[in-house]
Amino acid sequence: MNQQRLWSSLQKLATFGASENISEEGITRLSLQKEDLAARKYVIELMKEAGLSVKVDVVGNIIGSLKGVDQTKPIVMTGSHIDTVYQGGRFDGALGVLGAIEAVRSIKESGIKLQNTIDVVSFTDEEGTRFGTGYIGSKAMAGELDETILQLRDDEGVSYEEAFCQAGFQPERYKEAIRNKEEIKAFIEMHIEQGKVLEGNNLPIGIVTSIQGPVWMEVTFEGHADHAGATPMNMRYDSGLAMAEVMLDVEKIATQYGGVGTVGKLRIEPGGVNIIPGISKFSIDLRHIDKTKRIDMVNKVREAIHQVSIKRGVSAKVDVKKSVDPKVCSPKVMEAIEEACHQLDQPTMKLQCGAGHDSLIMANITEMGMIFVRSKDGISHHPKEWTDTEDCAIGTQVLFNTLVNLAQ
Ligand SMILES: [Zn+2]
Repeated sequence: MNQQRLWSSLQKLATFGASENISEEGITRLSLQKEDLAARKYVIELMKEAGLSVKVDVVGNIIGSLKGVDQTKPIVMTGSHIDTVYQGGRFDGALGVLGAIEAVRSIKESGIKLQNTIDVVSFTDEEGTRFGTGYIGSKAMAGELDETILQLRDDEGVSYEEAFCQAGFQPERYKEAIRNKEEIKAFIEMHIEQGKVLEGNNLPIGIVTSIQGPVWMEVTFEGHADHAGATPMNMRYDSGLAMAEVMLDVEKIATQYGGVGTVGKLRIEPGGVNIIPGISKFSIDLRHIDKTKRIDMVNKVREAIHQVSIKRGVSAKVDVKKSVDPKVCSPKVMEAIEEACHQLDQPTMKLQCGAGHDSLIMANITEMGMIFVRSKDGISHHPKEWTDTEDCAIGTQVLFNTLVNLAQ
């Protein structure tokens, strides 16, 4: 594989949605916004340059195929996403897409003939930042999408359906994106670790054994937006304080269960210095590798919300925005990655994955595995997100060998 070619494509993709000072302000490339649409064109261009035949499905998944010798055989699929969070980094998702293009391009250039077709996929809206729920492209492929998603609106009031149509896709035909189980032999995703385990072990590459699935909830407390001066403390229905209590409960419950819990998005209305918060809306993200324990965590948090609402005399509404089951990786794909590392004399280790990925969804229709690449200081979803050039190249070489192992 060509390390320099991979690196320059990563740097080029990073310019779409980047602010002037990328190391401080990062990249904002939300799904289907103009930055994302421009980046998509670049990815399509790259795939064509790599000699892949490119197709974009009804929900905007970009699929580049390297045809195998035997096209009756199921395809081997690899890929990730190119959308980002607000002020995100250069590698999350991007490495999995561009690394896959580079790996497949190198396979083609080296004249290796594979039995199975390889599809490189850039999935639509993995992050879910714009409309509040993610994995849209992979869910469409796995047959897990339904109409309700089309009615979701972004902060500007644009519906998902409108955004899809404006981008030139056909959301009403979303069922046509579904892929059959028989069609796909395996799905493998290369991704930055977004944690510090590999760095701590001095290893550039890791093999993922299982993925935590997130539950996303949106909670709305409604109290009274009374005057901050005229309302004595004992006569208040302060939704902001209710929110503060639940935030601390989330911390307690997640710690107690050995999972993780985060409140990352808050909104208070009317939001004035001298007004008691009337409405407080906030997000909760709960994750655990064990599904039963995660269900217990969710129930405990729901109970805490209920108790706080009674105690403070505010109403509570809880919407579950996303619920993805944790998944164990396929032993077959893990073996193929291990074999690849062995072929390359590349030391590696097995580790769990804390973040959610398209792989979680793809695991419902095929054998799934993930290659992790070392992140500097474990920083991710942040302008300072970093993975060294050499590590990107090693990950891509491991992906190259893994694809050959699976498709020859
Ligand atoms: Zn990602």
